[in-house]
Amino acid sequence: MNILQKYVEKMKRLRIDRAHGTAPNKPVLLLAIIELIEHGQIRENKISPSPSLFEIFMKYWSIVTDRRPNLALPFFHLKSDGFWHLHANAGYETALSVVTQIKTVSRLREIIAHASFDDDLFVLFTNASDREVIRETLIDTYFADFKQAIESLITEEQQINNYSQRLIQQVDYVFTSEHPAVTDETENEVRTQGFRKAIMRIYDYTCVVCQLHVLTMDGASATEAAHIIPFNVSHNNDIRNGISLCRLHHWSFDNGLISLDRNYEVIVSNLMLERGPSEWLLTTLRGKSILLPEYDELYPAQEALAWHREKTFII
Ligand SMILES: [Zn+2]
Repeated sequence: MNILQKYVEKMKRLRIDRAHGTAPNKPVLLLAIIELIEHGQIRENKISPSPSLFEIFMKYWSIVTDRRPNLALPFFHLKSDGFWHLHANAGYETALSVVTQIKTVSRLREIIAHASFDDDLFVLFTNASDREVIRETLIDTYFADFKQAIESLITEEQQINNYSQRLIQQVDYVFTSEHPAVTDETENEVRTQGFRKAIMRIYDYTCVVCQLHVLTMDGASATEAAHIIPFNVSHNNDIRNGISLCRLHHWSFDNGLISLDRNYEVIVSNLMLERGPSEWLLTTLRGKSILLPEYDELYPAQEALAWHREKTFII
């Protein structure tokens, strides 16, 4: 039996807990990881329970079941299948060796640094045709009833990923604030999700203003991709027209209560009334430097910020 065949057989026989009704946790996790490898978001044999993994996991999950998702379960229990290995964070080696279950992503992230596949399996995943054979095996074995929906999802995810890559490459061109109304064939949903994906990749799911990085118990992120010049005005999904914000700061930004000055520091409107614990007040953010991307060509465009100060910010 060759190596591919060996793992195909293993994929067909994943140990699935049927005591509580079949929850397709493990095959969904594997489909999600395969997708991140395909899109270049996982490049080495080190898989962490990241928000991007959770987002993809959720998309597959919602196709195949309406039960509550929990990424922590398969991420931990896949180790019983022999090809998936868990690596503890420093100081948690003993905890990992004795623990028999992990029920939340927050606990998972506390104990586990990352997981890895058998090296020869990871090599198969990095090869497009081998990866496809394994993916087809998982779909045919566990999700035959949902094959069509899953295949459409895979196609749509490829479009989203291509679009988000294109947005990131656009920074090679001069920034222009307003773009012509959109006429290309890309679906609205693909554009919206592609913009979010690019912004989350750059800002790592963190609010640039308060640096809050909130994940739910399941691993979902509360951070949103915000346009600086609103899309309905600018038709501009250039990532330099975007920042990532938590919900409170997204709302405050869109309603002109906060904006950013030329030095990427927060400015706060005087024309509002707020009361409450000082650490939550918008006014305490005044003058605070925002979180900026690693490379300055990805920074928010000065033109877009100037537009926001002039047209949205309430002085
Ligand atoms: Zn925030």
